[in-house]
Amino acid sequence: ALTAGIVGLPNVGKSTLFNAITQAGAEAANYPFATIDPNVGIVEVPDERLNKLTELVKPKKTVPTTFEFTDIAGIVKGASKGEGLGNQFLSHIRQVDAICQVVRCFEDENITHVSGKVDPIDDIEVINLELILADLETVNKRYQRVEKLAKQKDKDAIAEFDVLSKLKAGLEEEKPARALEFGEEQWKIVKGLHLLTSKPILYVANVSEDEVANADSNKNVQLVRDYAAKENAEVIVICAKIEEEISELEQEEKEMFLEELGISESGLDKLIKASYSLLGLATYFTAGEQEVRAWTFRKGIKAPQAAGIIHSDFERGFIRAETVSYEDLLEAGTMGNAREKGKVRLEGKDYIVQDGDVIHFRFNV
Ligand code: GDP
Repeated sequence: ALTAGIVGLPNVGKSTLFNAITQAGAEAANYPFATIDPNVGIVEVPDERLNKLTELVKPKKTVPTTFEFTDIAGIVKGASKGEGLGNQFLSHIRQVDAICQVVRCFEDENITHVSGKVDPIDDIEVINLELILADLETVNKRYQRVEKLAKQKDKDAIAEFDVLSKLKAGLEEEKPARALEFGEEQWKIVKGLHLLTSKPILYVANVSEDEVANADSNKNVQLVRDYAAKENAEVIVICAKIEEEISELEQEEKEMFLEELGISESGLDKLIKASYSLLGLATYFTAGEQEVRAWTFRKGIKAPQAAGIIHSDFERGFIRAETVSYEDLLEAGTMGNAREKGKVRLEGKDYIVQDGDVIHFRFNV
């Protein structure tokens, strides 16, 4: 499964957020084979459509899909030089698919800040610089090898050398790889290098309890937004402390609490959705009398692969995907009506599955 890593300087609220994630955790009964790694928190992906489908189909059971966050502790200045748990930290980041960087935007005299003052841009730059330096090392090593091959007129080497030169120049200017301009073919080469700064990132602005309903009045949040905009990155505003409290509540209490705070959606729910789409993930549904269920897939895959997410037999024996879009099904009211209206399509093996598809797979055993 794809995972998003939570990073940030010490004392910015990472553990508080990660606590909220594990406490809100997905119902273990639905995922009996999930590995229990203390650094991984599995959450259910909130999806209003699943609730609507449940009302419509009235199944015995409803199963949401899940998403994984990994807690990556231990970044300090100098990590790329092996300071603190530097190397370990970097190798953990290498293993995640996206980065959620928690940035302290709350002021609290009782909680020390590692560099003595709350300065979100400085904090972001400390972390990003460590990642950039680690990438520069990777790129430089490769650069020297590929340079020789490029001189021997090796065509692939010439293309890669071009990319490496651009990366080297950009990283030396302290720009992350994701902020550099590459063509589609070049971007494939960049991906192949598994750089830390080519991973998609979102910033999590951690504000105080009394600011969460009106976060844009917080000047630190504005600074983070401006910074992120330059990288085309998203910013999610949360109050980690409140999220920790919310995660202990039942759904109904949770809704009441949010209303009192004047917010429509919990920060954690926003974070889950944003991380999910940052990774290019989408959801299709299966809807039967026994079970209505959401399934995660990577955008762009075809029907047989999507079937394989449920079971490899479904992919091997794939015949057709009986498909109706969520909107069409909701409008028709029942599967039968949708069929009569001609909204249920019989899709074959080249069909590219869409977010919100409700699918019944037909397959040979
Ligand atoms: P970490 O070192 O990044 O994991 O930070 P922690 O989650 O341990 O938080 C450091 C301190 O900041 C703890 O005392 C938290 O209670 C406090 N803290 C975290 N989030 C918030 C918040 O949103 N508001 C306030 N006032 N304190 C917070």
